[in-house]
Amino acid sequence: MASVPTQIALLTRAPGGADSTCDPDLPTAPWQFDAVPGQPLPLPTYGAGASRQDPAPADSPVQQQIPAQYRLLPAEELDRRIRAAKEALGSRVTILGHAYQRDEIVQYADFVGDSFQLAQQSLKHPEAEFVVFCGVHFMAETADLLTTDDQPVILPNLAAGCSMADMADIDAVQACWDQLAAVYGTEPDADGRVPVVPVTYMNSAASLKGFCGAHGGIVCTSSNAREVLEWAFERGQRVLFFPDQHLGRNTAKAMGVAVEDMPLWDPRKPRGGNSEQDLLDARVVLWRGWCSVHQRFTVDQIAQARAKNPDVRVIVHPECPMEVVDAADEAGSTRYIQLAVDAAPAGTAFAIGTEVNMVRRLADTRPDLTIECLDPVVCPCSTMYRIHPAYLAWVLESLVEGRVVNQVSVDAEVAANARTAVERMLAVGA
Ligand code: SF4
Repeated sequence: MASVPTQIALLTRAPGGADSTCDPDLPTAPWQFDAVPGQPLPLPTYGAGASRQDPAPADSPVQQQIPAQYRLLPAEELDRRIRAAKEALGSRVTILGHAYQRDEIVQYADFVGDSFQLAQQSLKHPEAEFVVFCGVHFMAETADLLTTDDQPVILPNLAAGCSMADMADIDAVQACWDQLAAVYGTEPDADGRVPVVPVTYMNSAASLKGFCGAHGGIVCTSSNAREVLEWAFERGQRVLFFPDQHLGRNTAKAMGVAVEDMPLWDPRKPRGGNSEQDLLDARVVLWRGWCSVHQRFTVDQIAQARAKNPDVRVIVHPECPMEVVDAADEAGSTRYIQLAVDAAPAGTAFAIGTEVNMVRRLADTRPDLTIECLDPVVCPCSTMYRIHPAYLAWVLESLVEGRVVNQVSVDAEVAANARTAVERMLAVGA
């Protein structure tokens, strides 16, 4: 099967084919968003793709323009130079590739997995002098928290952010926290439970992980969100969950929390748009954030998949809206989906609600199964997509020449608190 970029290029060139992608600009070269010396900085944007509808924060990291030679190299020459640089660096470099990354990059990765698996891999390789993280910005930050101080973590394109992570910034979360304290006070109840425990999804900036570490809170992944919420409810009367409302709602609902006890916090409104009583009655306060990719899946798509094949097994990621998770046969993390496909008997048909690059690769690895993306429109995670082979060649050849470019590092104080929140999660397990 053609890779996602190849398929997008073919679709956008075909008459009427552009309708089969979420954005006809997807084949546009990512360096059009690079900062050009002597010219005004480009507007912060997530670029082509599903997240284009979401405004990028004004302080989003900007990628400086990479040398022209990389932008002009044909794919075969980039491939030759990436392989040569990787061979020259040997065990000095570990390349990590996220499961949603394009095939053109994943082929060079030493490890492929979800954000947490990759963070663990960076922890397991202290011998590597450099970690090149082919994911998005918050993932590189998390790797930096877990690697040694003399092990730079490199993100090949600094403009590869995450629209969901960017929906909660530290100032807005602090303002929310202060308003909640005005409603709840700060004293524990008779059982010693504090008024509210902050829980952040792994898909968040290091500053928010640090906030949780400093305020008795914790980090979760989509694999362990339930265990983490149980941990939080043992220590608090309520949870403030950010930035993904859907993961928070889907997980708490599966634990028996009523949907009406989970008010949405809109950071642009006073008290998040809630009455004081709503907040007092809350069990989970959900931040108004979402993943641009997973928010695209719908109940209609599930109905269409079942109309096509009544025996189809529908699995969706818990970042999908609640109605979609409720209508699916199963919901689970990237790892859950991978394991479900690995364990399926030949002939099983799947409709999967997660990022299209991952779904296509699952289909390639199990030709004895029928595996389709629930969304018929080809729409990758557009920020992950910004890690083009030209950027990977540039960072690797820079390392060969003794230069570290595009290092992502977390401030020492933030990092110490963030590690506390991550270590609490690791102690919870799962
Ligand atoms: S798939 Fe969604 S949550 Fe993951 S990096 Fe892309 S925008 Fe962020």
